[in-house]
Amino acid sequence: MADDKGLYQDEAIVLTVKDWQWQDRIAMLLTKEKGKLPVLAFGAKRMRQSWNAQLQPLSCLRVSVKLGTRMAVLRAAERIGSLHLPDEALEVMAYGAVMAEATAALLPDEEPHPAVFDLLAAAVPALVARNPRLIALTYLIQMLRLCGYEPDYERCALCQQPVAGKAFRLEPLQGGVVCGACEAGVPAEPETVDLLMRLSQLSFAAEEKFTVRGKQLLEAERFIYRFLQLQMDKPLQSLRFLQQLGQTLLKG
Ligand SMILES: [Zn+2]
Repeated sequence: MADDKGLYQDEAIVLTVKDWQWQDRIAMLLTKEKGKLPVLAFGAKRMRQSWNAQLQPLSCLRVSVKLGTRMAVLRAAERIGSLHLPDEALEVMAYGAVMAEATAALLPDEEPHPAVFDLLAAAVPALVARNPRLIALTYLIQMLRLCGYEPDYERCALCQQPVAGKAFRLEPLQGGVVCGACEAGVPAEPETVDLLMRLSQLSFAAEEKFTVRGKQLLEAERFIYRFLQLQMDKPLQSLRFLQQLGQTLLKG
């Protein structure tokens, strides 16, 4: 939507922000109508420039943007609602950064993806209000599916036989499960697949209560983070921060 000054206006969620030259920043936005849009924010590092505070990963904004031939330029940004990620909640920030970076990596520029926008807009408040580790995993599973990457948990990737009732392993490289007859190894627990399938249907809006066993959560995380990483062409930087916080998902 364009306003009377020819500026493009839209709702946007900030995905990543990086410094650019002296006082400027480049923000990767996920806009509702245009999809992923890199914008140059002039003066965003100056203290008196109010955008400095707005341009944080997962901030939900109303933006005015001058679309250009080389790169769009951010002209105004205003936070929508009162919600923002609390700086002191390091775990929330760390999982939020993983969600934002993964979204930026998987979506192509300037291709509308309203379903991913809506999913992320719903996941951000849940990240603050609920268990951030579970919300991040749920978001990644659902975002991967919306982007066309859905693991197959029912049939062995190698022999195509159903794995129900048999020993099997979760194998990110094969995009799903591999049965014990095709490849020996430590089998996954069937409850882990149940958890993955349950999270793929979880609604962020509904206050659904359920308990998750640590072992299943860890197994599910290892599979999804590795599977996600295989769809990306560079390492997920934000995972390092999670590791520094003592999260165990990449160990072992
Ligand atoms: Zn097999």
